[in-house]
Amino acid sequence: MTAQNLPHEPEFEQAYKELASTLENSTLFQKKPEFRKALQVVSVPERVIQFRVVWEDDQGNVQINRGFRVQFNSALGPYKGGLRFHPSVNLSILKFLGFEQIFKNALTGLNMGGGKGGSDFDPKGKSDNEIRRFCVSFMTELCKHIGQDTDVPAGDIGVTGREVGFMFGQYKKIRNQWEGVLTGKGGSWGGSLIRPEATGYGVVYYVEHMIKHASGGKESFAGKRVAISGSGNVAQYAALKVIELGGSVISLSDSQGALLLNSEEGSFTPEEINQIAAIKVERKQISELASTSAFASKFKYIPGARPWTNVTGRIDVALPSATQNEVSGDEAKALIAAGCKFIAEGSNMGSTQDAIDVFEAHREANAGASAIWYAPGKAANAGGVAVSGLEMAQNSARVNWTSEEVDSRLKGIMEDCFKNGLATAQEYVTPAAGSLPSLVAGSNIAGFTKVAEAMKDHGDWW
Ligand code: NDP
Repeated sequence: MTAQNLPHEPEFEQAYKELASTLENSTLFQKKPEFRKALQVVSVPERVIQFRVVWEDDQGNVQINRGFRVQFNSALGPYKGGLRFHPSVNLSILKFLGFEQIFKNALTGLNMGGGKGGSDFDPKGKSDNEIRRFCVSFMTELCKHIGQDTDVPAGDIGVTGREVGFMFGQYKKIRNQWEGVLTGKGGSWGGSLIRPEATGYGVVYYVEHMIKHASGGKESFAGKRVAISGSGNVAQYAALKVIELGGSVISLSDSQGALLLNSEEGSFTPEEINQIAAIKVERKQISELASTSAFASKFKYIPGARPWTNVTGRIDVALPSATQNEVSGDEAKALIAAGCKFIAEGSNMGSTQDAIDVFEAHREANAGASAIWYAPGKAANAGGVAVSGLEMAQNSARVNWTSEEVDSRLKGIMEDCFKNGLATAQEYVTPAAGSLPSLVAGSNIAGFTKVAEAMKDHGDWW
């Protein structure tokens, strides 16, 4: 069965169709028709592992969750991709994430295959001891299937340095091996500096190139009003970097609602972002802070809302950074109506296909100062896995690079990622007169061709 016939896996089908349609609408298959076969092969995971996770809650009750690891593609290196702990996790979601990860990892230029895993375990409302017991049980099974040269997971939604630590400890006990089997580790035991910051910083570095290219070098983040969704790892560090570069952050959100500036002036401050970060460590909601007098005087909190249609005043840049499908077609239109010129996904598959269609149609229809440009997560948020790749390199060589060294490599990788997508779009897609090249098509084609060629060399298709 091909990926096209998987109605019971809607998220995976969406991710597959998004990639396949950009390949079809380019000249790739005219120039290289044999790559159609590669697309069929690459869309089936090499291996899917599903397992039972039994753990004990604080009341002594037996709790059961499902654990997964999708080892999607190892053409370019060991499987690499995060673990997500969230009640919504299922095979369709992990297959979509693993599929996108293959091409994202290819775009970093590092030797990493693609994978993703996780569990339908909900860390919210759990004590630290419950989380530790869950992580130990989860890794007791997962450790049979991973290793520094086989499969190297990292964090994702619901998995922070704390969970990585618990899982790393259990791997080490069972396998009696200290090895770089997980990334996102603590700084004193093998973690890379800048890994926590990498995805958020990387998105902003990527958008800097978009702004510079589109404005002919005249503009930067300075003075830009930036709407961000989410308030977790990616959103927090994206917000801090935007402010450092002279932009204003005008919204953040979480799964319960959106927090927005209530005036057309100003920005979240780094102190306010740090306060939000502190409550997120305790797995609390933004609504708790929003009701305090300091926040209530400056922000409006809208329960159940996403930021996009609720911002006061102009939006220049939008960075969806919470979860998949968090921008609908109507919200994409609202963003453009609010003046938004640059949309880049910190989240994976942050935009629905309808939203991408809206952004891409506006890109085609506008030139010069009114150009609108969309960057998909698999390019814009590649900074996280890129620094995970750098963490693997440091672990193998038993060295620690400085923050400056890692940050400078991250900047280089994000620049290459942008330029590669741009150049590949120029080679394979003819844009409407005067419009900017499609970064979604260029990034998809660049990532796909690299993986397809390696698979052909390995005899995976012929
Ligand atoms: P976190 O768990 O740190 O934060 C997730 C944020 O998104 C929280 O604000 C959370 O709200 C919100 N959220 C989660 N689920 C939903 C939902 N169903 N609806 C609305 N809001 C939701 O995760 P990250 O910041 O690490 O990840 C965010 C996105 O970035 C994900 O798509 C992830 O796959 C992607 N990504 C992450 C990378 C990384 O290095 N961490 C790398 C590349 C991509 P609440 O606090 O209420 O739960």
